[in-house]
Amino acid sequence: MNDTGKKPTTDSTTGAGAPAPSDRNSLTIGANGPILLHDVHFLEQMAHFNREKVPERQPHAKGAGAFGVFETTEDVSAYTKAALFQKGAQTEMLARFSTVAGEAGSPDTWRDVRGFSLKFYTDEGNYDLVGNNTPIFFVRDPMKFPHFIRSQKRLPDSGLRDNHMQWDFWTNNPESAHQVAYLMGERGLPRTWRHMNGYGSHTYMWANAAGEKFWVKYHFHTQQGMEFFTNQEAAGMAGADADFHRRDLFNAIARGEHPRWILSVQVMPYAEAANYRINPFDLTKVWPHKDYPLIQVGTMTLNRNPENFFAQIEQAAFSPGNTVPGIGLSPDKMLLGRAFAYNDAQRNRIGTNFHQLPVNQPKVPVNTYMFDGQMAYQHSGNAPVYAPNSAGRSWADTTGKAEDGWEMDGDMVRDAYTLRADDDDFSQPGTLVREVFNDSQRDALIEQVAGSLLGGVRSPVLERAFDYWKSIDADVGRRIEEKVRAGQAVEPAAGMGEA
Ligand code: NDP
Repeated sequence: MNDTGKKPTTDSTTGAGAPAPSDRNSLTIGANGPILLHDVHFLEQMAHFNREKVPERQPHAKGAGAFGVFETTEDVSAYTKAALFQKGAQTEMLARFSTVAGEAGSPDTWRDVRGFSLKFYTDEGNYDLVGNNTPIFFVRDPMKFPHFIRSQKRLPDSGLRDNHMQWDFWTNNPESAHQVAYLMGERGLPRTWRHMNGYGSHTYMWANAAGEKFWVKYHFHTQQGMEFFTNQEAAGMAGADADFHRRDLFNAIARGEHPRWILSVQVMPYAEAANYRINPFDLTKVWPHKDYPLIQVGTMTLNRNPENFFAQIEQAAFSPGNTVPGIGLSPDKMLLGRAFAYNDAQRNRIGTNFHQLPVNQPKVPVNTYMFDGQMAYQHSGNAPVYAPNSAGRSWADTTGKAEDGWEMDGDMVRDAYTLRADDDDFSQPGTLVREVFNDSQRDALIEQVAGSLLGGVRSPVLERAFDYWKSIDADVGRRIEEKVRAGQAVEPAAGMGEA
């Protein structure tokens, strides 16, 4: 045996805890002979190795995160009774940031929306807020979601990403205009995760101790300041360090630089939703700040790196369906679709009992009638497995009006949301590019869009894309068309070239 290395101080074991024979040499007939089938240690190691990855998230595969604390610094008890949002409450939490479209090994700095997923280990169970670094989204009906994601991923034949496919989807779904305009702006290339905002994006319900209900939108403002990459910087970084954002967050926390975000909410009294000029549950719209100003809630600080990436980040499971008393969902169809789909994705990726893993376990006792299944670890002993029962195991029995519900009636239909006075697909992105962007941000947007349209977008999608941009803003649309027609886009589109 050519064992010249140092012997470790503690010998390793098999998975069953017995001393492992060797982690360097398989069992053979003579030093040069064949490996024996009864080298159980080798076979177990190889069999486990073949299974050591779980399916990557579809989408949001590439990401990383850290643990931290959320502290409620303001009194918002008028709006919610949720324990974590009572003044002075400190709640342990986990954050995971990600890109959307790229695979697990893809560069962090491709232009894309960033996931901003939070898990709060509250005294009333886990609360997950699964948002993005943008306050809006591309579509407003979850039926479109798989189609949208496939259009941003890869062609069926070549396996390549494709601008034509992306723009075909976007221009066929004009409700995407707001998110596309936002993504093509500077916020589509955050310099680091520490230097970007996060948004709950959906509208959620809050309810106070008196049972009064409100609609809320969450805004997490970075206290590190907003910083961005240019296209060239992002493209260079994609080659130089594909894990730049992951490295930046981990190293900053390791250095003791703990990134912070201030959480504010916009609050709409429950009854105002019925007649607000914009559908307040449409995920492609913001609530203008002048209608619903920000109300500060508290501070999120990330201060602890994972000790094991796979166990604590890859296996972390977030779902917007995980709510706690005082917080509810809303009629936002995308939110209602996600409330099912997210936990189901984890059942597929990790297994039936993913919620029993330490990173996903609530800090409060669990008494669930979910029973058995693959890899069951926590169990209820020989307590009754059915409810109601005569053996004293408690069960839930709330009846009547749902505390976090809302009233609806009507026929079952398959229809888009009913339009309100100011509901249209283009006015909010128009405001963004005309009034929020300054001249140089607008110029960069035009370069970015023209560059991406030059990269393989064909007729009739190309003409549709010009019309799409002219509907957002006539002048911006005209300038994009002129640039593309002249083939004059100077900057190659970072990420979107492949994207
Ligand atoms: P306001 O003038 O009150 O708000 C504009 C907001 O735009 C700012 O508060 C800031 O949000 C955000 N913003 C600033 N620079 C950029 C940029 N380069 N790219 C993207 N967003 C930027 O107007 P409205 O509330 O009427 O919103 C106008 C537009 O601003 C919206 O259509 C939307 O595109 C965008 N926006 C609006 C938000 C909202 O909740 N109302 C939130 C974010 C963007 P922040 O402080 O959150 O960074």
